[in-house]
This record gives sequence, C-alpha cells and structure tokens, in this order.
Amino acid sequence: MPKLAINGGNPVRTKLFPAYNYIGDEEQTAVSRVLKSGTLSGFYGSYMAGFLGGPEVQALEKEWAKYFGAKHAIAVNSCTSGLYCAAGAVRLGPGDEAIVSPFTMMATATAILLFNAVPVFADIEAQYFCLDPKSIEARITPRTKAIFVTDICGQPYDADAINDIAKKHGLYVIEDNAQSPMARLNGKYAGTLGDIGVFSLNYHKHIHSGEGGVICTDNDELADRMRMIRNHAEAVAAGRVHDEPGLDINNLIGFNFRMTEIEAAISREQLKKLSRLVEERIKNCNYLSSELGKIPCLKPAPTRPGATHVYYVHPFLFDAQVAGVDKHRFVAAVAKELPMTELREVEKSALIDSHYGYPMYLAPMYQKMIAYGEKQCPFKCPHYQGQANYQAGICPTNERVWKEELIVHEFMRPPVSKNDLDDVVAAFWKVWENRNELK
Ligand SMILES: *Cc1c(COP(=O)(O)O)cnc(C)c1O
Repeated sequence: MPKLAINGGNPVRTKLFPAYNYIGDEEQTAVSRVLKSGTLSGFYGSYMAGFLGGPEVQALEKEWAKYFGAKHAIAVNSCTSGLYCAAGAVRLGPGDEAIVSPFTMMATATAILLFNAVPVFADIEAQYFCLDPKSIEARITPRTKAIFVTDICGQPYDADAINDIAKKHGLYVIEDNAQSPMARLNGKYAGTLGDIGVFSLNYHKHIHSGEGGVICTDNDELADRMRMIRNHAEAVAAGRVHDEPGLDINNLIGFNFRMTEIEAAISREQLKKLSRLVEERIKNCNYLSSELGKIPCLKPAPTRPGATHVYYVHPFLFDAQVAGVDKHRFVAAVAKELPMTELREVEKSALIDSHYGYPMYLAPMYQKMIAYGEKQCPFKCPHYQGQANYQAGICPTNERVWKEELIVHEFMRPPVSKNDLDDVVAAFWKVWENRNELK
C-alpha cells in the first residue's frame, strides 16, 4: 500500500489553509470616504492644479515617504509602471545597456526595453539570489547606464558592494523592491538603497490595493521626471516650457500611470498593517526554517549579514543527492499532501513551487531577440554597438539554482496557526521518510 498521497495514499491534510486577507473594516471605511466625496481620481493630465493627483494620493505619498525614510514617494498604478518611470527618468535610450538580474519578474527587464535599451543579464548569488557584484563588474561596458537590482524573495540586494560599483562607473541603481517592503540592510529600508526604488501594491504582495505601486527617491530631478512620465509628460512639458525654456524633454513620451483615490485610500490603511504582517511572517518562517531544516535534504536559504528578510516567499535549497530524487518530484509529492488556501483555489495547488527563479533570458523574446517590430530592435538596432547575448549558460548560478536547488513556499502567510505550520512540517517529513516511493 502506498503511503504518499501522490501515489494514492491519504494526504496529511485536506482542510484548506486560511486566506491571506487583510482587507477589513478600515479599508471599507476608507473606500466609503472616497466614494462619498465623488472624486475617484484627482489627476489632471496637464500642468495645473491636479497634475500631482488628489488628496488621498498625496497623503499616501507623504505617509509612504516618512515611513520608509525617502525624500520623495510617487504613487503609480503598478510596480511595473514605476519601473518604466524610473528607466525613463534616468534617460535610458537607444544604444544603451542596463545590467539586470535574470531572477526577477519580467517587468524589471522590460522597463529597459521600453526605452529601446538592451538588458544585459548578470548572474546571481548562490545563497541570496540577488545580483552578484562580481558578475556585474564583468558585464560593464562603455554603453552601460544603469543597474536594475531586485530585492528577490524578501531580502535586500548587496547595496554596499553594488552601490560602490555604480559610483565608480557613474551608473544609476534602480531597485525593484516589489517583494521586500520593510526588509532592511544595516538599518536602512530596501526600496531606499539605490537611486530609485519601486514597491508593488498588487494583490499578491505583502500589502495591496488590488493593483498599485510606489516609487521612492531622494533625487529631486529624478522625482520630477517620474511625476511627469506618470502623467502624460509631453502635455505637461508643453505647459512648462514657458517657465523653463531649458527643460529637458528627453524620454517624456506620455503615459497614464496614475493611481486612483480609491487605491490610495486602501493603500494608506494597508501601510498601517504592514509591520504586523511582516513580523508574523518572520516568526512563522523562523519556526519552519528550524523544523524543516532538520530534514537532511533541505537547507533554509540564509539571510545576508546585516539584513532582515521579510519573506515574500520562503526559500530553501534542496540537495537531490541526499534525497535520491529531484526537487520537482519531491515538491510535487509535498504539494499532494497539503490543500490549497481559501481565496486562492484558482491556483489549484498548494502554495509551494519548484520552478521559481526561471532565468529570464531563456524566455522567447530574448531567445528570438524580438521586441519591437520585425527588425529585432533594440537588440540589432543600428544605434546599438554591442552584442546582445542570451545563450543558455550565461548565468550558470541562476540556471543551477532554478533547475536543481531552489524550492519556495508561502505557507507562512498569516493568519496560519502553529497547528497549520505543523501540518506543513508533517507533510515534508512524510515525503522525506517515504522518498523511496518516488524513485
Ligand atoms: C510583483 C512584481 C513586480 C510587478 O509588480 P506589479 O505591481 O504587478 O507591476 C515586479 N517585480 C517583482 C520582483 C515582482 O515580484
């Protein structure tokens, strides 16, 4: 008789895990306040009062900047939009390169392509999965203009080393901090470690407003350019040239990346809940790290010295040699022992993944080098004097981590109880003890 659920045995648990849902009375009251006001967006797309958004948007920006210790916070309708604003603000353009992590969400590199610049992928750190400073240095050319780092899984990039490299070569650092709100490095918040940092408020993140994002920077000029790009910059610039004849209008093609008053009102309430949610995640992950770390084939991925990890996902390194089966087999078996989460049935499986960390350059757009039109721009654009290379093997650490080692799960999301976590631990142990069934 097989014991493992994947082979027809009884699963460890069938009762759904509780939903991660912290939309409550506070958000309802905030939304009602906006609905009663009748002003669902305060933005105007021209250079006049309203160019900077309505009262909720401006209050959110003020609160966000104070919370994270940034001079400017700029609310947008997604982290993706924020990254696009950042790439435009630093004047990326045809012929330029920007170095980017291959272990991130597509948008980090797409922001570079949007301005017809070429993403150059550097490798990641084997333990922390952020960009590796040594690999960055090897990829810098006279065309390099910026480094796009990602605070992946919940911890900050190596800001000390990478900011030094950027300074030495006169490069901007743009920080994709969608996954690590309240993560810290030597006391400073992720999202404020580079020249520009971008947060996400989409449904899957620590806190959310359905969709949304916030950009942080201490640089007045970049903040001004990003506020323009957010809101039909070319129209705005037309209004400003009278006052400022020297205004640089490079990269000011207009977008509408504006956040609504409803999203801003929800975000303000969500921000108040962030520290409690982060603390609970950390507590749950500490427990799971210590219990699951006792299983011989599993090692909790470490946290960078001086850093706080906030666990967007909880990463483990899997040793296939010790287990005698590969990580995909093992994880598929664990997933069958455990149910889904309320509200997330759409995913049709437990909150565990052995495919996380896909090296982005393996995606068809990079393999075929096709982004704009049929002439392979920007990769083969005549303005570009470099040679884009997206061959398998360019980032061997990322490829190995993705193929063989990395497992992530999200069972630590509040409000899970100790009993819930113990079911997770039991499922992993059961699969470990019966791993011969998987061979
Ligand atoms: C979620 C995510 C994004 C995109 O955020 P949106 O707000 O959905 O645009 C970007 N980068 C990373 C690393 C993410 O996890």
